[in-house]
Amino acid sequence: MTKAANGVQAAGERRFDVVIVGAGFSGLYMLHKLRGLGFSVHACEAGSDVGGTWFWNRYPGARCDVESMQYSYSFDEALQQDWHWSERFATQPEILSYINHVADRFDLRRDISLDTRIETAAYDEAAAEWVLTTQEGTRIVARFCIMATGCLSAARIPDFPGMADYRGRIFHTGHWPHEGVDFGGLSVGVIGTGSSAIQAIPPVAAQAGHLTVFQRTPNFSVPARNWAMTEAYEQSWKRDYAALRRRAREETRSGTIYEFSDKGAFAVDAETRRREYERRWQAGGANFMHAYNDILIDKAANDTAADFVRGKIRETVANPQTAEALLPHDHPLGAKRICVDTDYYETFNRDNVTLVDVRREPIERLTPAGLRTGERDYAFDAVVFATGFDAMTGALDAIAISGRGGATLKEAWSAGPRTYLGLMSAGFPNLFTVTGPGSPSVLSNVIVSIEQHVDWIADCLAHLRKHGIGTIEPEQTAQDDWVAHVNEVAHRTLYPQANSWYMGANVPGKTRIFMPYIGGVNVYRQLCAEVAAEGYRGFRLVGAPALQTGQERHAAL
Ligand code: NAP
Repeated sequence: MTKAANGVQAAGERRFDVVIVGAGFSGLYMLHKLRGLGFSVHACEAGSDVGGTWFWNRYPGARCDVESMQYSYSFDEALQQDWHWSERFATQPEILSYINHVADRFDLRRDISLDTRIETAAYDEAAAEWVLTTQEGTRIVARFCIMATGCLSAARIPDFPGMADYRGRIFHTGHWPHEGVDFGGLSVGVIGTGSSAIQAIPPVAAQAGHLTVFQRTPNFSVPARNWAMTEAYEQSWKRDYAALRRRAREETRSGTIYEFSDKGAFAVDAETRRREYERRWQAGGANFMHAYNDILIDKAANDTAADFVRGKIRETVANPQTAEALLPHDHPLGAKRICVDTDYYETFNRDNVTLVDVRREPIERLTPAGLRTGERDYAFDAVVFATGFDAMTGALDAIAISGRGGATLKEAWSAGPRTYLGLMSAGFPNLFTVTGPGSPSVLSNVIVSIEQHVDWIADCLAHLRKHGIGTIEPEQTAQDDWVAHVNEVAHRTLYPQANSWYMGANVPGKTRIFMPYIGGVNVYRQLCAEVAAEGYRGFRLVGAPALQTGQERHAAL
């Protein structure tokens, strides 16, 4: 009986109504939600524990740049009241302990297989089922497959010649050793100056004997001005949590409550603008971006904010040449994800830190001792690759996914990801992505987006079960229209002007297309709700034998 209820049918094959790939923020909530609805559901996680991005990204200085009171689940009032965040911006260890708390609190672990990497996912058309295989060859069969694989989980190390020659230690910020790394007194090279590097560089510099930072493109960064949580601030959220969460979900574009301005940058004079930027700079965090409502739309407005930040960099960095090299000029402020730092620019005033501009001095290869640029050889005890991710599509590409007629997702997305609402892709029935390309996802407080996707998918599956519908799949025209809309909205903004990972521009050979949906989580949420209310407009729903859910099985036994 227990075996049947668990859906285990034979050694080497496991059957469920739903299989979830990934046990980070998305996978855990998806599991909780579907189990609550009585589906038999199982999650497979490649890592040796839950946590997804927060399990892997353990580099020194890692913390979230969305405030902790907002970067947390809202689905359970008791959870959000009980949990105490100790800082304004939570560290990686604290977020990971929160995720573990959630897994234990909702007894999720019994339905998660850890250390289980999914290698293939193939749609069996005749049976209308997904067949997944793990690296150990176990088959997992389920009517529905939900990819909760994360948008920034496929770490990327550039293909420098000589990688195998290097005799020191190599790290990637997104695959940090669990035991930590002691850089005490070592000579260290960090490659990259994105969000991860900007967080890691100050603590690594504080430990290392010498740190050399290899920068290809300077980024804009604003100070976090983190502080220890105060009772008053915590209560200002907890007193009215449900209403504030609703506001973030339904009334903001980013799923985060900031001080939004209803003015354009040129609605005020230059001195008023400067004071406003200064006020926000001193308060810290990405709230800086919301000083005026046209910063990400109008280049001239953007320039006013970008000039202000460039001025701050010049003021902070003592060596004028280093300061000039750190000034971002090639993209509008915020068109690449804005970085939020603690003492990043100040770190370049340390005697043990050197900045190398790899546009002037390109990295040619790794050598046994370190690396060689166009100008000279560098020797390092350790090299840290803070070189980012094959974002949004990388984790999906890493699984051989094939849909109708054996067509692969990789081929279907070869000219850029094609989805309807970022939830599903034509030709891949019953396959869902949580916060996939074509949804607000990485442009938002991702937990808000995760909760919206999970709730929508769960409602959808309950609807299919109720109506005896076997498969759901986007109509080709609905998908084509959505892809066009995602592009069109993106091009109304300054975002496509940057060579960002949003555009796939950080991966050589990847199609350049703006992947997330920029229309705002509020607008998007409404759209998704309307689509469902109109009988899943734009989706093809086909009847089939009803699902045998865990609950129904129990009832039948
Ligand atoms: P990233 O933003 O893609 O930055 C990668 C860095 O590596 C860039 O500076 C890039 O330079 C450089 N790089 C890549 N290939 C290179 C090469 N061949 N030679 C020299 N430099 C190279 O990656 P990330 O810093 O890991 O951040 C990714 C995203 O994760 C962030 O945008 C953010 O959404 C998220 N994140 C969030 C937080 C947070 O919440 N605080 C922290 C970390 C990450 P180019 O710019 O020239 O390509």
